[in-house]
Amino acid sequence: MRRSDDIPEAIRKRSYKKSSNGIPFLLFILTTAVGVAILSFFLKIFMDSSLSPRTAITTTPNPIPTATPTEKLDNILGHLPYAEAKQEALEPITAKGHIRLRKSAAAKFLAMQQDARAQGIILEPISGFRSIQEQKYLFFKVKESRGQETTKRARVSAPPGYSEHHTGYAVDIGDGKNPSSNLNDNFERTDAFHWLEKNANKYSFEMSFPRNNVQGVSYEPWHWRFIGDQDSLETFYKAKELKKQTKL
Ligand SMILES: [Zn+2]
Repeated sequence: MRRSDDIPEAIRKRSYKKSSNGIPFLLFILTTAVGVAILSFFLKIFMDSSLSPRTAITTTPNPIPTATPTEKLDNILGHLPYAEAKQEALEPITAKGHIRLRKSAAAKFLAMQQDARAQGIILEPISGFRSIQEQKYLFFKVKESRGQETTKRARVSAPPGYSEHHTGYAVDIGDGKNPSSNLNDNFERTDAFHWLEKNANKYSFEMSFPRNNVQGVSYEPWHWRFIGDQDSLETFYKAKELKKQTKL
C-alpha cells in the first residue's frame, strides 16, 4: 500500500515541476526547432552543391548526344532543311549527264573515282543533286506505294526540302562490281565502301548518316557529302560552327 501511495505523489511532483518551468521549457523547444531548421537548411545547400554533377547525370535519361538547339528547332523527323542548288552551279559526274553535283564536289568526286579505279575499285554514282520536286515524288509516292507510315518513311528518306541531295553536295555511291548492294546495308561489305572509309576524307567526302547518328536517320553507308569548301562546310556545319564561336 505504501508503494502504491508513492506513485501518484511522484507524478504530482513532476507535473508540478513542469508547470512551473513551462515558459523556459517552451523556449528551449522553440530554439532547438529553429536550430535544427537552420542546420538542415545549410546541410541541404551543401548536399545539393556536392551532389549536383551526379544529379545532372541521373536526370539525363538518354546518354546518346542530342542535336543542337538549332537543329531541334528546324528539323522535321530528324532531317534538316536545305536550300536547292541553282541549276548553273551543277555539273554532271556521269557521261550521260543525268547525275549532277555542285562544281566543287563534282571535280573532287571525279578525282576520287579516278584514283579508286586505278586501284581496281569502281565507285558508281547512283544519285546526286535532287530537286525538291523529285524529292516530293520519292517521299510521298514511294511512301504511298509501300504503305509506309510517315515516321518510318522519314527514317529512310528525307521529306521534300530536307534532303542533303538538294544542296548538290551529296552523292549516293554504289560498288560497280556489286550492284546488288546498291542502296542497302550490304554496301558496307563491299570493296568500294572499304576504300571510301579509308580514302574519302582525302577528297573531303564524309558519310552523312553513320550508325547511331544524332539526327536519328537510318544508317546509310552509301550516302556521302562533300565538305571541302566554305559553302559546303557552312551548309552542313553552321550550327556546330556557331556553337564553337560562342564558346571562344
Ligand atoms: Zn542519299
